[in-house]
Amino acid sequence: MTKIRNTSKSAIVTSALPYANGEIHLGHIASTYLPADIFTRFSRLSGREIYHICASDDFGTPVLIKAEKENKTPAEYVDLWNKRDYEDFKSFGISFDFFYKTSSVENIEFVQDVFNMLNKNGHIYEQQIIQFYCESDRKFLPDRYVVGKCPYCGAENQYSDLCEKCGRVPEQILDPKCSICGRRPIKRSSKHYFFKLSSFSQRLKKWLTENTNLQRDIKNYVINWINQGLQDWDITRDLSWGVPIPMPDAKDKVLYGWFDNHLSYISTLLTYFQRKFPDKNAKEYWNDSEIYHFIGKDIVYHHYLFLPAIRMGIDEEYKLSDYIPTRGHLMLHNQKISKSRNWYIGLREFISAFNPDYLRFYIASVLPYSQTDINFDWDAFYEKINNELIANIGNFINRALSFLNKTFHGIVPEPSEYNAEDKICIIEMEKIADKVAFLLSGNELDKALKRILKFGTQLNQYFQKKQPWNNNITANTTLFIAVNGVRSLAILLEPFIPTSSEKIWYQLGLSDSTTADSSNIHQQQWNTASEMRISPGHRILNNIEPIFYKLDAKEIEKQKTKLVKPIE
Ligand SMILES: [Zn+2]
Ligand SMILES: [Zn+2]
Repeated sequence: MTKIRNTSKSAIVTSALPYANGEIHLGHIASTYLPADIFTRFSRLSGREIYHICASDDFGTPVLIKAEKENKTPAEYVDLWNKRDYEDFKSFGISFDFFYKTSSVENIEFVQDVFNMLNKNGHIYEQQIIQFYCESDRKFLPDRYVVGKCPYCGAENQYSDLCEKCGRVPEQILDPKCSICGRRPIKRSSKHYFFKLSSFSQRLKKWLTENTNLQRDIKNYVINWINQGLQDWDITRDLSWGVPIPMPDAKDKVLYGWFDNHLSYISTLLTYFQRKFPDKNAKEYWNDSEIYHFIGKDIVYHHYLFLPAIRMGIDEEYKLSDYIPTRGHLMLHNQKISKSRNWYIGLREFISAFNPDYLRFYIASVLPYSQTDINFDWDAFYEKINNELIANIGNFINRALSFLNKTFHGIVPEPSEYNAEDKICIIEMEKIADKVAFLLSGNELDKALKRILKFGTQLNQYFQKKQPWNNNITANTTLFIAVNGVRSLAILLEPFIPTSSEKIWYQLGLSDSTTADSSNIHQQQWNTASEMRISPGHRILNNIEPIFYKLDAKEIEKQKTKLVKPIE
């Protein structure tokens, strides 16, 4: 049995929702989707029942304004992004079980039910509020459309719904400006609904303290926010595009996007089960499973406070999160990614030029399980792919399989008695599945990949030491062990570089195609990476080609010239 750190057999993984208003870039991938995908793929291989759920985040003012500009209805507009995002994720190997949308009928109904239940339980109250209104744009200005000074830390030019400097949600931004036209907005009165976040302070604190799975540094500063006093949360927006508030006198008002979007983690799973497993009780599944919400550190406040408080407010009909793996930002050549200043790399553009697995490999190898920011650098990318992935892993696989073809006509030979070197190599192989599983189940993806690379180095050294090209008598044993080493690598690397693993599997002669059957690499059992399952007499593919191709320095230089330094 594979040693993993989790206790529950089944699990649900969610990735923070991409906003349906722009393309997926490398920053999104690094903080959220790739770590969630690696974790899910590993869990599937280790025999866990696990579903990776996501949806496009469709509501809010930015979508409304963009749709107006493009002469589309907001529904048409978000539909395009929903499809495009899903395609981009897919071509990058992100294997969602279900990717849906927050504007779905199912989500709207679910969110309204939750609102009604919170209201019934006394967690909602009404209050007239004075709101920003831009007379020149003739719009109430919610969320991102008012910028000003953060009342907590004094940072200038912050959005009214989230200070990017200190991470808090200021209820009263100072020195406000309309971000559409730059004019100072006026104030108008409007009736809003508030969620009593403050009354959950003690329960939230208890939950944060008792849940030992949460990252400690994050927990500590969230508890610190609670100690300073939580503000009740205005969940109303004077807009037409959103989940309608299910109250008789709330026309022209919708629920705030941050009220509905994380509820779609649940509603999307319910919809998925309804369609795929109509006989299974999705609510029971949720409550019996371990719940993982993968996020970037910019949305800690929402996932460590709003989300649990709302679930508490509906009597934990759906259990709280077990894990909230939270990661830092991706920097680009040590500068903050900024779409508006064109300092970013779109995912689609990247994978039109490079093997998506190269990007997965690079990011995974520098991605700690912490809030520390990481960096994408074209030169480091070049080095890592050529000198680690190709010189180590690619080299071993190609040498072993080519030699097997050349000397044994592609047929795995019967081994003779093992000598000391063979035994050392076999012992390493026997340990590797558990070692990597321990790291992956604890979300330490970078360390897990490092451990696999170390195993690759050991295999290379073994092959080099045994020199099968000079040793007719022991070449059979060496190749028997080496080809099983290739098989180990294919399984161990599947969560990281799934498409390449498919190719390795195919070259090993273990699958005729990439269709979903038991010969498929994605359906293997993790712990068999420590077993020698390829028997003597097995025939590998007779046409062995390199799995990876070296990056060309000229191509890297070309990519670098596309980045235009932002003006600071
Ligand atoms: Zn601040
Ligand atoms: Zn304005």
